[in-house]
Amino acid sequence: MADPEIKVSNFIRNIIDADLAAGKYVAIRTRFPPEPNGYLHFGHAKSICLNFGLAQDYSGACHLRFDDTNPEKEEQEYVDSIIDAVKWLGWSWGDNQFFASNYFPWMYEFAEKLIEAGHAYVDSQSAEEMRAHRGTLTEAGKNSPFRERTPAENLDLFHRMKAGEFPDGAHILRAKIDMASGNINLRDPAIYRIRHAEHHNTGNTWCVYPMYTFAHPIEDALENITHSICTLEFEDQRPFYDWLLQRLAELGCVNTPLPQQIEFARLNLSYVVLSKRKLIQLVEGKHVDGWDDPRLPTLVGARRRGFTPEGFRRFAEMIGVTKSDAWIDMSVLEGCMRDHLNETAPRRIAVLDPVKLVIDNYPAGQEEECFAPNHPQKPEWGKRPIPFSGELWIEREDFVETPPKGYFRLFPGNKVRLRYGFVIECTGCDKDADGNIVAVHCNYFADSKSGTPGADTYKVKGNIHWVSARHAYAAEVRLYDRLFAVEAPGAGDRDFLADINPHSKIVITAQLEAALKDAAPEERFQFERHGYFVADRVDSQPGAPMFNRAVTLKDSWGGGAK
Ligand code: ATP
Ligand code: MG
Repeated sequence: MADPEIKVSNFIRNIIDADLAAGKYVAIRTRFPPEPNGYLHFGHAKSICLNFGLAQDYSGACHLRFDDTNPEKEEQEYVDSIIDAVKWLGWSWGDNQFFASNYFPWMYEFAEKLIEAGHAYVDSQSAEEMRAHRGTLTEAGKNSPFRERTPAENLDLFHRMKAGEFPDGAHILRAKIDMASGNINLRDPAIYRIRHAEHHNTGNTWCVYPMYTFAHPIEDALENITHSICTLEFEDQRPFYDWLLQRLAELGCVNTPLPQQIEFARLNLSYVVLSKRKLIQLVEGKHVDGWDDPRLPTLVGARRRGFTPEGFRRFAEMIGVTKSDAWIDMSVLEGCMRDHLNETAPRRIAVLDPVKLVIDNYPAGQEEECFAPNHPQKPEWGKRPIPFSGELWIEREDFVETPPKGYFRLFPGNKVRLRYGFVIECTGCDKDADGNIVAVHCNYFADSKSGTPGADTYKVKGNIHWVSARHAYAAEVRLYDRLFAVEAPGAGDRDFLADINPHSKIVITAQLEAALKDAAPEERFQFERHGYFVADRVDSQPGAPMFNRAVTLKDSWGGGAK
């Protein structure tokens, strides 16, 4: 993987470099402008890392702006969660936190200025008439019969719209550009509409609200944004963005240099859905356990899952930004998380599917310590003591009565090493009335303890992990997997809900190394041989953490765990 410190150039950096070299801007200013109508998802992480990352690299600033111009569907809960998520990703914005709704007075005033200058008019056609007159890609639109209203007439109507004299939809303010434009977005787009709705920030102050395409360029200009980076679907809106800001600059409403809109390809990730609408369906339909369900591609979900901010930043750097749509495989993101977790997560021992191992020749009541490294590549992290006794928990799959070819773990007559402990020889097992194995028996070799002189004279092929039964901490562990079973959920005409992976959450009681009882919420570990796990930040109690699996090991047996 590329060193995350080496910044790969991309077309946006090239634009910024050229702008700075030409003296167009003194410093750059970007923004991340979420609409507070949902929780942030992995796609937003790409945009966040891009905008905040550019500001950081070019010693500029990045604003966090809540694009809350739509009075419906916006809530404080979402504002709070967005702030948390961006901070969690490691970014800060100082005093540069803004709400677009605070600009309503300016937006309204700018609309008046446009009307006075003959750049906007009040249309009183019905929505159907407007649609019918809009034209098509190949056919020009038709001018509205209200297009030639005088500025005075328009201003009067606009004021009365604001005063609440008309119901929703009775009139609409439109930019006066060109109904025959080849770009449909320039065919006199709507800029202000009547909406008798309460707004989460401005309450009932307004009953006219700006359209997004009108509001957004103004927000950028008022904040002196230099590079307004958005996703590709806004490309056709750029001519209107520029038209509007040029008019407003001529009218003395906004400062120059004007911001410029730059589009990049949004993140498309396999095995998840990244549309707010679909995420809401998953939550409201109770297909997941809330917005922070560790299987959801929300940032609150990722955090509970044990994914790391550094992993997201690496991922963003690795996938880069382009102008063309592409799909990124989920394994790329998982790989970034795994790489970061591999470097940072201490190793611990966990038995996920426990069966008893009884060491028949171990002195009754005795116990002792074995020592396990906290990180195999970081000797400076030291070793920790792990208690050993005559009854251990081992994985059920580490014992078979009749071994298949190439099986080196426990079976009657075979020797294995208990990792960081002793070599044992299996003698048999106990079964219940139904034939289920309830305990495995063995004898140990007292002179084979790892780290003691002569221990390596024992040559065995199998090496299994264990925890002392008397000391183990029995905990709830959630084995999370991908939420969808297919790469492209809902592709074609399929209902995406039908593609949910029925095995995406498996809850077990595992036997964990005693020290894990003290894990703090959000502490992350590698459970040797099993993957990376985090102490759940929501359900854990002091002294009783529960663990979530973030990702499995690349190599579930051997290699990855070493
Ligand atoms: P919707 O359009 O459904 O409201 P949205 O995902 O576009 O949802 P916003 O809150 O408008 O939500 O997004 C904030 C910012 O995040 C925007 O600048 C948007 O371009 C960016 N963004 C959203 N989804 C992605 C994605 N999948 N990849 C990259 N950037 C994204
Ligand atoms: Mg959007």
